[in-house]
Amino acid sequence: MNWIFTPIALPVLIASLIAIFVLVYTWQRRTMRGARPLLPLMTGVVIWLVGSTLEALAFDPTTRLFWSNFQFIGVVMAPTAWFMFSLMFTDRAAVLTRTTLGLLLIMPILTLILLWTSPWQQFFQVSKVLNTTGPNPYWDWVPGPGFWIHAAYSYLLTIAGFVILARSYRQSSRLHRRQISVMLVGAAVPWIANILFVVVRLGPFDYTPFAFLITGTAVAWGIFKVGLVEITPIIRRRVIDEMQDGMLVLDEHDRVLEANPAVLRMAQVTEDVIGQPVKQVTDRWPELHLRFHYLTSGQEEVSLAYDDGTTRHYQVSVSPLLDKNDHLTGRLVMVHEITRLKQIETSLMEAKDAAEAASRAKSTFLATMSHELRTPLAAIIGYSELIQERSEALGYEKIVPHLKQIGTAAQGLNFLIGNILDLSKIEAERMDMMVTEFVVPDLIEEVVNSVQPQIAKNSNVLELDLAPDLGLMQTDRTKLRQILLNLLGNATKFTYEGTVLLAIRPDCATDCILITVRDTGEGISDEMMGKIFQPFTQADSSITRVHGGSGLGLAISSRFCQMLGGTIEAESRLGEGTTFLVRLPVQLPLTQLIGSGNGRSEEAAQQ
Ligand code: ADP
Repeated sequence: MNWIFTPIALPVLIASLIAIFVLVYTWQRRTMRGARPLLPLMTGVVIWLVGSTLEALAFDPTTRLFWSNFQFIGVVMAPTAWFMFSLMFTDRAAVLTRTTLGLLLIMPILTLILLWTSPWQQFFQVSKVLNTTGPNPYWDWVPGPGFWIHAAYSYLLTIAGFVILARSYRQSSRLHRRQISVMLVGAAVPWIANILFVVVRLGPFDYTPFAFLITGTAVAWGIFKVGLVEITPIIRRRVIDEMQDGMLVLDEHDRVLEANPAVLRMAQVTEDVIGQPVKQVTDRWPELHLRFHYLTSGQEEVSLAYDDGTTRHYQVSVSPLLDKNDHLTGRLVMVHEITRLKQIETSLMEAKDAAEAASRAKSTFLATMSHELRTPLAAIIGYSELIQERSEALGYEKIVPHLKQIGTAAQGLNFLIGNILDLSKIEAERMDMMVTEFVVPDLIEEVVNSVQPQIAKNSNVLELDLAPDLGLMQTDRTKLRQILLNLLGNATKFTYEGTVLLAIRPDCATDCILITVRDTGEGISDEMMGKIFQPFTQADSSITRVHGGSGLGLAISSRFCQMLGGTIEAESRLGEGTTFLVRLPVQLPLTQLIGSGNGRSEEAAQQ
């Protein structure tokens, strides 16, 4: 085989080398989405150009003819591959089933068979003679009907690919439009070149392979330079453009690479900000720029005031965009609007404040009212005792029992009002603490003396189990006394002919005292157990009539325990008895004072 240098060989050789470079480059990056569909197109271009180069360098006509025929593999491949690329690039790869692929390949294969087999060659090219008159030999040839069919098919595919891409152009963002227009221009080049060659017959050379090289290179640029195919335009439109949340992609210099319609709406800017510094997006809120300038990762809430006087709230999440070496190449900013959530939060807070204020007002009202009620009640109690004494002295024996009833009822009412007063003071946060130092056994003696009549009334036995070293305690004596009276009062109220135990021992490890009040009475049901510390709760409404009481004693006791820094627990078995366990710190700071009102008087607690 002899070789000869012709002037046309040089540009074709350069074009071949470029094509081979793009093909290898694409092959190396074939894992990137969009690179694979480009491979067949570039392979076609390489075959076409290498064939042209070798044809230009071949000396004898037989060798030239061989390379001319060889090129046709690329000639038939390029338009088909271009069409397939346009489908895959616009997310229509599903169309390319085995059947459609087979149909697409029928024409290229038939063309090659026609060209390569001598009886059919005539159908493709009527005559083909090498013209060697000039410096660049070329084929003087007359195309047959087969060629025109092949040409029509190739044009059709090239145009179809062009139209598919052009349509995706309309659906793409500004940034992608730039890339797609490069591809479209690239795609138009071979088409024009081929028309010039085949139809206009502008010179003897076929410039189409050069043109396809431009196409392939333009597409490769679109893919690799911009990474466009990471998200193809159609998917991008669907996912990002229709997202409710704003999305902003910034490069390492804080330039806007991508901004979806939502974020443009939020910032009230147009697509023109793409490619511009992010400052243009946050232009009217300079504080945002300061807040987010150095933030590469994290979440922040921002409130933006708009020109129409409204304020909107957003949750902004920033995450870093890293390259494969973990270098920061930009930032992804997601913006989620939380205005509605904020409004709900504010109204909930307002409602909570209002409810708390109303509750405090109610408690204040109750506290005042209870106080106002107790003054006339004191007069009723006092005068009924006085009239009782006088009546006995004057011999009006008949009315004495009635007067006693008035006295007892008034006392009960006074006790109930005392409890309501205590509870409302606690809830209005107006209950004072009076911390004093006192001798524990003295307090116990006092309490025992107070409950003794009730113990005897229900034929119970009171057992005391007091540690010998109880000594001094520093806490609110009145409140502790009231807790003990309530627990012992309940224990004996719900027990008949049983035992009530009061056990007190220090717990040195925690510097507390442990008070146990146990009875062998009727016990408390499991269902009731969960409610006994809530105000106005009684196991059975008939209890009020049988035992008296208001359902406030335990509620007050438990709140008192809390105020004294301790706890209260209950254990019970229905029909077997109940145990209350109180744990209180032995020593509270002397100046501890809660609320602003006065604590319940010693007398009231005794009643
Ligand atoms: P009350 O004024 O009704 O005694 P409390 O708040 O002191 O109110 O007690 C609430 C309810 O808890 C009582 O009505 C009773 O049903 C139950 N209870 C409290 N202590 C005992 C106990 N030692 N034995 C059985 N039931 C009890």
